[in-house]
Amino acid sequence: MVIRGGTVIDATGERRVDVAVVDGVVQATGEGLTVPPGATVLDAGGCLVAPGLVDLHVHLREPGHEEAETIETGTRAAALGGFTAVVAMPNTNPPLDSADAVRNVLELAHAATAQVAVAGAITVGREGNHLAPMAELAALGVHLFTDDGAGVQSAGLMRRALEYARGLGVTLAQHCEDGTLACDGAMHEGAWSSRLGIPGMPALAEEVMVARDIALSRATGARVHFLHLSTAASIDLVRQAKAAGLAVTAEAAPHHFSLTDACAVDYDPVFKVNPPLRPQSDVDAVKAGLADGTIDAIATDHAPHAPEFKDLPFDLAPPGMLGLQTALALAITELELPLSRVLALMSWQPAAIAGLDPGSGGGQGGPIEDGRAANLCVIDPTATWTVDPMALASRSRNTPYAGRTLTGRVRHTVFRGEPVVIDGEAIR
Ligand SMILES: [Zn+2]
Repeated sequence: MVIRGGTVIDATGERRVDVAVVDGVVQATGEGLTVPPGATVLDAGGCLVAPGLVDLHVHLREPGHEEAETIETGTRAAALGGFTAVVAMPNTNPPLDSADAVRNVLELAHAATAQVAVAGAITVGREGNHLAPMAELAALGVHLFTDDGAGVQSAGLMRRALEYARGLGVTLAQHCEDGTLACDGAMHEGAWSSRLGIPGMPALAEEVMVARDIALSRATGARVHFLHLSTAASIDLVRQAKAAGLAVTAEAAPHHFSLTDACAVDYDPVFKVNPPLRPQSDVDAVKAGLADGTIDAIATDHAPHAPEFKDLPFDLAPPGMLGLQTALALAITELELPLSRVLALMSWQPAAIAGLDPGSGGGQGGPIEDGRAANLCVIDPTATWTVDPMALASRSRNTPYAGRTLTGRVRHTVFRGEPVVIDGEAIR
């Protein structure tokens, strides 16, 4: 296969070269490569040829909620969004808190159109009481641990988990939400929650756990990754922690840089998500954090829900939005960042956090050079398209971007040397 006529872009820079792929690896890069007879040619004219995107935060719902998504449909959506690897969150049923549960997902993902890395639970049942067998899961290749959907409420237990994590060389990822502050909040606590009469969840619920975990990271020397940061104060805490040299990383979700709490005005549950949509000042802080390097990655928090579960009154509906097929275009459309920065945030930086990059022995995140695993995406950065929920590959339809016109489209995706998306269409 030859990817022809594009501009290769990776962590090492940009160059106008073709890319030849043979047996799953990049065989050659160069100008005007000759195409062997019978080889597939992917046209990359006017496009960027980048390492495949890596999503640190997806809910594939299998096992347990296959009515909302399966590993097959979720990874098809991922491929269409330019992702060649995703990290599957452990809040499935059963939860991914045992070696058997992790092995089951890895087996189910064998035929998937993107690499599925598994995040293991920190505590048994994600209940926050007893540590999961982290060493057993780490031995299966689990690199990120999280009780996502909930934060670990006990500081003492989190400290112990961090001590284990440090010994195992793995990373704990926290969904920062203090339950005693969040209570039954269904949206951001502020002017809009008061006006709409929807119970609010204060920004503090996120911020106190970010502050606590920074202190615990300092005390233990263990790595902490902050999931979906959404408030200005949280981001500032991480900025200070990084300046102090602590081993913390952070991600932000596209909805937290593209939507505000005012979206709840019509009580449409499609805009319910956790952490909730915040005021414009927080949206601006997320953008600033992405621009100045405080936030390391854009992660979707792709959270499909079948309509019979999602279409409930706002305060009863489950939180979560689709994200895989809109993330890249939202980043290109909403962030005033050079494309090389957008790709750092969506490919090589998250690949390193997930332990999937070449430095960790994986094949994700590039660079695009001879002998490297061919996990690639070809992006038309100027193409515009309108989000049609019915046209998405996910089993669910809960996108908050229906009807929105975005700039930037994935033309082709190559996973392990095979095209899985050609001209914007999934081919398996
Ligand atoms: Zn979460």
